[in-house]
Amino acid sequence: MYTTDKNYVFHNGAFLKAKNNGASFYSQALHYGYAAFEGIRAYGTEHGIVLFKAKDHFKRFFRSAEALDLQIPYSYEELIEASRELLHRNGLTDAYVRPLVYGGDQMGLVPSQEAQVLIVAFKWKKYYRAPHLNLHISPYRRLKQPAFHGDGKISGYYVNAILATKKAKAKGFDEALMLDDEGYIAQGPSSNFFFEKNEKLYTPEKGNILPGITRKTVIKLAKEADIEVVEGKFKPEDLEGIKGAFLTGTAVEIIPISSIDGKPMTEEYEHTMGKSLSNSYRRLVNLQEPEVVYF
Ligand code: PMP
Repeated sequence: MYTTDKNYVFHNGAFLKAKNNGASFYSQALHYGYAAFEGIRAYGTEHGIVLFKAKDHFKRFFRSAEALDLQIPYSYEELIEASRELLHRNGLTDAYVRPLVYGGDQMGLVPSQEAQVLIVAFKWKKYYRAPHLNLHISPYRRLKQPAFHGDGKISGYYVNAILATKKAKAKGFDEALMLDDEGYIAQGPSSNFFFEKNEKLYTPEKGNILPGITRKTVIKLAKEADIEVVEGKFKPEDLEGIKGAFLTGTAVEIIPISSIDGKPMTEEYEHTMGKSLSNSYRRLVNLQEPEVVYF
């Protein structure tokens, strides 16, 4: 509808044919963020390449797409196979795999029903340069139902996360810690939040967060190590005197927090639950377990 063989667009200083072989200039994803995505890590291990928790990630991919009524025209198995082939063609072992399903050409706000699927893979060794993070409690709040589908990975929503990160960095911090619309601690812009206090591990409950796959894995590892995990609603004042804290996510893995709004942790990271869970996580991503897909 928007492109013929004859029309042009202005793009980065050049006039280009509107019709091209890449992503469309008229996609609802480009203009309005109407898209959903996933982030999966591949680890090169002695058993082969592991696509860590691939099943959980692709399940969430289909769920996020469903929230937008975008029908992914491939099966779970086809997406796994495409990811494998993509890693192979790019000569990648340790890598980040990013599937994206995005809306077709539509300048209006009626949702595009035409789902396009893209997968990219690239080396992403560490998400953060700093080994420990100084967090800033962000003025940007996370939206939840009914304001938004905060439990899916919907592209447009990430503008909120980018702005929170930008604000934290502008103030000299490494990353933001976001509250929900009621002022309860929610999570990092692309990660979940845990803190240690009174020999227990605490994390915001589901409902005002994106329920991360790494979060679920860390809770399981903690329980296996006889650590009591409390999921609940916490206010910034509950962080007074905490021993340790960390963020979890596929890209960030487990990253320690050294301070929150200038207040340091009361224990050395080396002696915290975060450190021992990080060691267990590292062992897990490199060893076989049933939910992992090996290539
Ligand atoms: N929250 C948000 C908003 C995210 O984008 C991510 C990264 N996927 C996470 C949390 C962590 O989720 P996971 O552990 O599944 O990567």
